Amino acid sequence: MKKNLTLFAVIAVMFATLLTGCASAPQFETEAESAQRPILIQGPMPIEAEKFAQRLDKVKVEKSGTFVFYIGKLDKYPVIVAKTGKGMENTAAATAVAIEKYDPIAIINQGTSGGHDPSLNVFDIVLGERTTNIGSLKTGHLEENEGIEPTNWIPMDLMASEGSAGEDPNAEKARYYEGDADLLAAANAVKDKYTKGKVVKGTIGSADVWNNEVDRINWFHENYGTSVEEMEGAAAAQIAKAYDVPFLGIRVLSNNKTNGGQYNPNTAEANQDYVYEVVKQYISKIHEK
Ligand code: SAH
Repeated sequence: MKKNLTLFAVIAVMFATLLTGCASAPQFETEAESAQRPILIQGPMPIEAEKFAQRLDKVKVEKSGTFVFYIGKLDKYPVIVAKTGKGMENTAAATAVAIEKYDPIAIINQGTSGGHDPSLNVFDIVLGERTTNIGSLKTGHLEENEGIEPTNWIPMDLMASEGSAGEDPNAEKARYYEGDADLLAAANAVKDKYTKGKVVKGTIGSADVWNNEVDRINWFHENYGTSVEEMEGAAAAQIAKAYDVPFLGIRVLSNNKTNGGQYNPNTAEANQDYVYEVVKQYISKIHEK
């Protein structure tokens, strides 16, 4: 009996030692680490998301509908890469799902774009100081057989009020979503690490439209101040704003119709390499806090 008790005590001590050993082992996250809110990086197409996802550590893949989330770590900080799919609807939904599921501390929407500014070339990068929906428009009043006059269309702000945007004169303006100051600061701080083109601040215009008419592109450039167009940024910015999550769009030019810049899909990878540096910089600032 006494022998059994001694054996029991020895086993108990061994078990306790094992437990304490485990608790301080590095494979377990500390409480502070597990409480960290992830940074969310969005890319619409496989070529715009997967390169970044491959660079994360300890990746776990989760899916919601058609949205794919690569959940991993960068410099020991939680980062989630989301492959949203193309276009405004996919992006809005993927943003809301990600916010509800993962509670991100910040969101970067990144990928390719088409130039509206003739001084920007393929491989140049635009930091979205502002992002706006260029598909949100109200047409003029014309009767049957009076034709279609797109240059008379005016911007429409669907967020101006909860009432009718068609009747509300306050809704006759473009809504601009501001890029977050801390994300912009991180992006600016690592500008020089990007060597394939220049990095500038600008305005990103989004809609489910690919504009190839140069006069129309110029019209947006003049009336909305757009530097580039793409199909996702404003949707993500609108939902990020709805939940008050800091947001920044970062877009590389993959084409620019205004100066003959031909579409180059390799720009997608270059942009992810740059955004990787931006995220590292942002994380280093979080670690400093
Ligand atoms: N050239 C590709 C186009 C992809 S669809 C193909 O034929 O498969 C458009 C995607 O590219 C969207 O995710 C959008 O954000 C981005 N994009 C790049 N250049 C664009 C442009 N000039 N206009 C609109 N979207 C553009």
